[in-house]
Amino acid sequence: MDLKSGNLYWTNTFKETPSYPFVEEDMECDVVIIGAGVSGACTAYELKDSGLDVILIDKRTVAAGSSSANTGLLQYSNDQLLHEAIQSFGKKAAVDHYWRCFDAISRLRDEIVPSLPIDPEMIMRDSLFFATDEDEIETIQKEYSALKEAGFEVEYLEEDEMKKWLPFSREAAIITKGDAEVNPYKLTHGLVKAASDAGVRIYEQTEVFLKKAGEGGVVIRAAGGHLIKAKKAIFAQGYETQETIKEKNAVIESSYAVVTNPIDDLSFWKDNVMIWESARPYFYARTTADKRIVMGGLDEPTPNPDIRDQKMIAKSDELIKEVENWFPQLRGTIQADYGWSGSFAHTHDGQPIIGQYDRVPNSYFLLGYGGNGIVYSLFLSKLIVRHIIGEKDAAFSFYSKERIYEPEVI
Ligand SMILES: Cc1cc2nc3c(=O)[nH]c(=O)nc-3n(C[C@H](O)[C@H](O)[C@H](O)COP(=O)(O)OP(=O)(O)OC[C@H]3O[C@@H](n4cnc5c(N)ncnc54)[C@H](O)[C@@H]3O)c2cc1C
Repeated sequence: MDLKSGNLYWTNTFKETPSYPFVEEDMECDVVIIGAGVSGACTAYELKDSGLDVILIDKRTVAAGSSSANTGLLQYSNDQLLHEAIQSFGKKAAVDHYWRCFDAISRLRDEIVPSLPIDPEMIMRDSLFFATDEDEIETIQKEYSALKEAGFEVEYLEEDEMKKWLPFSREAAIITKGDAEVNPYKLTHGLVKAASDAGVRIYEQTEVFLKKAGEGGVVIRAAGGHLIKAKKAIFAQGYETQETIKEKNAVIESSYAVVTNPIDDLSFWKDNVMIWESARPYFYARTTADKRIVMGGLDEPTPNPDIRDQKMIAKSDELIKEVENWFPQLRGTIQADYGWSGSFAHTHDGQPIIGQYDRVPNSYFLLGYGGNGIVYSLFLSKLIVRHIIGEKDAAFSFYSKERIYEPEVI
């Protein structure tokens, strides 16, 4: 599958990447992970100290799939807002899910990043979520109330107060705390390198196919014919999983991003807050370690990479215009140094999935679909590992494709 096109930014920030061999022999292990994007990288990291014998394989190189096209915003708020998730799943399930996202970011900061051999440039940032127009004010108010009631640190901004944060303002906005920005390419490489250092066997440039999955385990055939036998398989193939299992809850669309030239003075942008809005699809923006602006959005409802890419130049121009609308002082001084398009999946019901299918026993499909792909991968990988080692976690069944959870009694 053609996952992305254009001129990517993150791959230019890290050129001395570790490299790994391709598969050249038959092998056996306890767990094989297919896919070394951020989902497979998180899973390898979670398994590295489990005592299990683990293999991680990718048909490209590490982080060369969607994880290099990612814009690196880590937010506990989801594309499905908390008050909307409460409508769909009830208060307990929705609030627990939001706290799980929040905790995943905190754990990344406190435990994971300090242990990585590659610095992923994680910086804690507040997020500013604004009403695109006056019809959306109620959405902001409902979200503010839902977050506040659930115990999150959230601040409501009227038009005048938003002006203290940014050069443009809208009638309503909220500030949430506990989010972060990251370099997703370095993060994925850091997780894989940490796993490798701890003994996980990593292979690149080897496409693999499921040969057999049964009660005794899973057999994977590598390009070249070698077989890998494992007790369990974790498929972390990103959006390409849809070529194998066609999960009905998943939809593939297209998204776009640009990264500007470095900007000397960003003092008009208080605390480099990460910005997003209530319109769907939405524009969003963040800054980078070298003082560039990343702006993304303008999603198109097409899974077709040819149609996606035909629009790439026009979309880059539109994204730069939107940066200039938000920050008029930059008009005429910025350009898209980098610009790309990418396939992008989400689910109909707004939640990521741990897929288990009767026809593929002993296998887990990690589908961290949605705008919070990294955050989802962080905790879904942990849930899968806990399931494999026999630790029960009620959250696991909420992310099953059947969405099993305790319904509320009203
Ligand atoms: C423009 C854009 C912006 C985004 N912004 C954000 C953001 O700000 N924050 C966020 O959290 N998420 C964001 N996302 C989503 C995020 O990129 C994805 O959720 C995430 O990268 C998915 O990671 P993954 O590991 O599941 O997939 P991938 O990174 O695609 O990794 C899957 C890997 O599996 C390998 N593979 C597939 N099939 C096989 C096979 N048969 N054999 C061997 N290997 C195989 C592939 O080569 C690939 O490397 C964005 C996405 C796009 C497109």
